[in-house]
Amino acid sequence: MQKQNKKSAAALVCAAIMLAGCAGPENKITSSSFIAMDTYISATLYGDNGKEAAGKIKEEILRLEGLFSVTDEKSDLWRINHTAGGNARVSPDTAEIIGKTLEICEKSGGALDITLYPVVAEWGFTGNEYKIPGEDILKSLLENTDYRRVKVTGDTVSVPEGFQIDLGASAKGYAGDKIIGIMKAEGVSSAIVNLGGNVQTLGAKPDGSDWNIGIQDPFGEGYIGTLRVKDKAVVTSGGYERYFEENGKRYWHIIDPSDGYPADNGIVSATVIGDSGMFCDAMSTALFVMGTDKSQEYWRKHRDFEMILVGDDGTVTVSEGIYESFSPSEGVKVDLIK
Ligand code: AMP
Ligand code: MG
Repeated sequence: MQKQNKKSAAALVCAAIMLAGCAGPENKITSSSFIAMDTYISATLYGDNGKEAAGKIKEEILRLEGLFSVTDEKSDLWRINHTAGGNARVSPDTAEIIGKTLEICEKSGGALDITLYPVVAEWGFTGNEYKIPGEDILKSLLENTDYRRVKVTGDTVSVPEGFQIDLGASAKGYAGDKIIGIMKAEGVSSAIVNLGGNVQTLGAKPDGSDWNIGIQDPFGEGYIGTLRVKDKAVVTSGGYERYFEENGKRYWHIIDPSDGYPADNGIVSATVIGDSGMFCDAMSTALFVMGTDKSQEYWRKHRDFEMILVGDDGTVTVSEGIYESFSPSEGVKVDLIK
């Protein structure tokens, strides 16, 4: 029997908003929620300009979805994947997100690899028709993967024949950054947005205090703790977000480019905290693949983000810069890395 799960993002979102607390009577609150980018999206904006901004946010997300979808025949991604071997003209947003995501592919030593799409699709994580591919199939599909062979020149993107890319690892984060930009331009100074596990905060809560973000317990329904932040993106990649089970074994949607199987390097949830949603999104997926030891090594070397890692043995590791802002739930022990 096959069990499948596409995590109820709604539950997480509601909790995040509840944790955000209530504004005083002097503050207008605008809430907006809808489904896009294959996930539940919600935004809560405080202040007078919220309504106008909320409308623009939705428009922007739908526009970006139209560019980045791998399945929409009118998207830029579709054009890139169906012009493999040649040059595809794309919008500035598509060129930008691919260029920036490729930088993380490189920095992560290939743990992140946007050309894994044929492997992701073979597992059924695109159409939700899950299956365990044969080892030979995975091997042959992996021959047509290598992020270094994706070229972005101005508004032109090219991938070799037989290659296909997807931006599932960074698209929501990119959209989050765009939304923050729109809200700022509209004069909103306090807001929280959740794009299915990608939380982005603008400013502080209306009363000036930090937002409280619940970090999901990958083993259950609750939280491993709450994190206090302002003006930050908090992005989690979790094995619990999209998976199926067969014969008691869980197969999730984050793939290890070294063998084409779901990444199984000791991490079941990686949360990255930083200024850019896109960076945090790409990085959290990369850390999930890198695993516990390499992630810690990477963090010590770069120190340009903070992180919360949950290991498959239940250990919770928190980086130095957010250690004081993280309140673990009762019974959760935290290891500090510095
Ligand atoms: P996220 O939920 O942000 O961690 O991204 C997971 C999504 O990124 C998957 O649904 C795939 O579309 C894609 N993906 C899976 N494994 C990788 C990988 N190693 N590198 C890049 N993208 C990946
Ligand atoms: Mg990601």
